[in-house]
Amino acid sequence: MKNLEKFKAAMFDFDGTVTEKGSIAPSAEMAKFLYELACRMPIAFCTGRQKSSFEEHGLKIILSNIEVSKRQKFLENLYLISENGSIGYAFNTDTDEYEEFYRVAWPEELVNRKWLMDELAGRTEGLGKMHYDKHEVVVVIGSKGRGEDVNIQDVYETSDKIYDIVVNFLKEISPNYEDFVTVGNSGIGVVIVPKNGDKDYGILKFGELLKEKRKMDFDAKLREILVVGDNPQIGGNDHEFLKGTYGTPYNVGENVLDGNFPLNVYDENGERLLHAPGTIYLIGKLLNSID
Ligand SMILES: [Mg+2]
Repeated sequence: MKNLEKFKAAMFDFDGTVTEKGSIAPSAEMAKFLYELACRMPIAFCTGRQKSSFEEHGLKIILSNIEVSKRQKFLENLYLISENGSIGYAFNTDTDEYEEFYRVAWPEELVNRKWLMDELAGRTEGLGKMHYDKHEVVVVIGSKGRGEDVNIQDVYETSDKIYDIVVNFLKEISPNYEDFVTVGNSGIGVVIVPKNGDKDYGILKFGELLKEKRKMDFDAKLREILVVGDNPQIGGNDHEFLKGTYGTPYNVGENVLDGNFPLNVYDENGERLLHAPGTIYLIGKLLNSID
């Protein structure tokens, strides 16, 4: 892995990238690496989760592993892109709260969001759970068994089935549905995202915010932003995040994507590193390169 010293900011998918595959929260070791990185550059999480889930299961655990006196510094350099790229938040040090800096709209011209939720809740009954209340822009169906004591492989297979049901139903609604929404499979659920509000848009908006507020410089493709995720395949919820439209993407998932991007993470022995160990290794190399 070369040229890591060029990075000025970093973005991470959350589930399976910052957390270990099948685990809901990050480890104490991961929290330490993220803190060290946030002391050096702005970092953002870009997740299919909504803000409240990220705060409850992600941020709280990370902060519990950071000394109280250092938390403010960490939060000031931490951004959140939620709902798979549809809403961005920056921390406001005056109010001690995350505030929205952008939000995209659901494409009602394709289909009414509530009607779609009701229809898909019926069609995925027994397989998934429609998340009615928490998400504000995207539509999310969690794979059944998620968070409970079940085999993670069963959760992944159920997620694949939900994905097929969702795609087939959207095709019935409009053969051109892909002009309006993208369907992403995170392995623990399926997310339907406005076309103009996917994770690649999150990279673009994060870069714009840093240019404006922090007076940082980036090239046109924002290659100085490190981007890490674990679902780059077509249909994966990191496909737009990792295909290389913006940023320099690295893949820590089992699936691969042909082309120049995303890059892989290898250890000294040439072994590919996946999920949280891959992300920790990459952050460690990055911290060494900018020392
Ligand atoms: Mg993921």
